[in-house]
Amino acid sequence: MSEPERRVDLFVIGAGSGGVRAARIAAGYGARVMVAEEYRVGGTCVIRGCVPKKLLVYAARFGDAFEDAAGFGWTAAAPVFDWATLIANKDREIARLEAAYMATLGKAGVEIVKSRAVLEDAKTVRLEATGERIRAEHVLIATGATPSLGPTIPGIEHVISSNEALHLEALPARVLVQGGSYIAVEFASIFAGLGSQVSLVYRGENILRGFDDEVRQHLRAELEKRGIHVITGNTVAAVEPCGKHFTAHLSGGLQVAADAVMFAIGRPPNVRGLGLETAGVRIAANGGIAVDDYSQTSVPGIFAVGDVTNRINLTPVAIREGHAFADTVFGGKPTRVDHANVPTAVFSEPEVGTVGLTEAQALAEIGDVDVYRTSFRPMKATLSGRDTTILLKLLVDAATDRVVGCHIVGEGAGEMIQLVGIAVRMGATKADFDTTMAVHPTAAEELVTMRQPSMRHRRKAAE
Ligand SMILES: Cc1cc2nc3c(=O)[nH]c(=O)nc-3n(C[C@H](O)[C@H](O)[C@H](O)COP(=O)(O)OP(=O)(O)OC[C@H]3O[C@@H](n4cnc5c(N)ncnc54)[C@H](O)[C@@H]3O)c2cc1C
Repeated sequence: MSEPERRVDLFVIGAGSGGVRAARIAAGYGARVMVAEEYRVGGTCVIRGCVPKKLLVYAARFGDAFEDAAGFGWTAAAPVFDWATLIANKDREIARLEAAYMATLGKAGVEIVKSRAVLEDAKTVRLEATGERIRAEHVLIATGATPSLGPTIPGIEHVISSNEALHLEALPARVLVQGGSYIAVEFASIFAGLGSQVSLVYRGENILRGFDDEVRQHLRAELEKRGIHVITGNTVAAVEPCGKHFTAHLSGGLQVAADAVMFAIGRPPNVRGLGLETAGVRIAANGGIAVDDYSQTSVPGIFAVGDVTNRINLTPVAIREGHAFADTVFGGKPTRVDHANVPTAVFSEPEVGTVGLTEAQALAEIGDVDVYRTSFRPMKATLSGRDTTILLKLLVDAATDRVVGCHIVGEGAGEMIQLVGIAVRMGATKADFDTTMAVHPTAAEELVTMRQPSMRHRRKAAE
């Protein structure tokens, strides 16, 4: 085989959150960088993840806002929602962002190739669009993850993932969402907010596995108050077309009629067909590419960041990993990413914000834990009449007084947890929270005014 014609210092496979950041920073250090993207520059977050989803979340929340306005004296003609306008406007914004990403990469001197790229060996990448082979001193795999529809069931061809949900031709009157993850819960909230009748089907006993149990219970109750039919302990066994509609047959025997059936049941890392075996790159037990603290794979010179490594699958984490890789390899600054205490939000209605340990984790890891919790009707709901409550919860290590976890369900939870995340990472104690002056009147002020623990867990007492 002939020698590759072009040579680069870094070849990045995948122009998503992690790949784009790594490419730009590496180029800034003077590296010759090429990035290949098989779909659209920006990756999942920009094209079919966080950004389009959040735009739909904003759209969905107007439903409640119109209803709530009446209690504050507003009367207006009955609002009419137009799905086509929302999708067209959303698509325009995504195209703008994609162009901005391409411009930023271009300005940084990164060459973008619109092609699928695969490894031929540890230092050679082949572009599938042209067959060209590129010699790369370093390769960064940042290929992300893809929605899985799970095992093949009868009628699986009628099931959509979050990708298609963002491009439906019309708002479905009835939607069945299968899954208990944050994506499933968010899309259930979006459709419900826009006026669809929503069923949320999950195989486990409650939604949002891995989150604090009280958060899971609280959110479920809130979703149900908003009319979402949450069906747990069930899976969709078959999807039967009935004219233009579908009947979903659940494992427990229930049948649910729907105009759209969406599964959000997992996003396995994109490792297939990349030539990883040929290059000798090891896959970890969780299905992601195995990497060390510096995102290096089992093959020197080949690195991997973001969802393809299946560490914490969030955009800011992929970005941080991409940046740290570029600093380490091209900037002469070996940088590890700290994956502890990553604050995160679920943009359901109401929102969830969480950082640090859940109560169950705190009990297992620390043992002596004080739980401060409050649940109350937000001030806005007093006039709007909306039946909703906020949950705020702090978990405190009883020995050190450090706040080791914070969990919020309610309006603005995502914004609040970003800031609480700083305090938790800095090792703030409950006393630090207590001496911080409240911002009044807010919901967040309860975080600094909870005086009495609702529960004191003690190892000795439990023995
Ligand atoms: C519906 C949804 C909502 C989400 N919401 C949030 C949120 O609110 N907050 C948050 O933090 N995260 C959210 N995420 C997760 C977030 O999008 C991902 O964690 C993030 O995009 C991961 O970045 P990445 O660089 O690892 O991969 P990606 O952004 O997925 O980028 C990978 C890129 O590689 C390309 N590619 C794959 N294989 C090849 C190949 N062989 N050759 C060339 N190109 C290839 C893909 O086309 C893709 O563009 C959401 C995800 C989804 C699906």
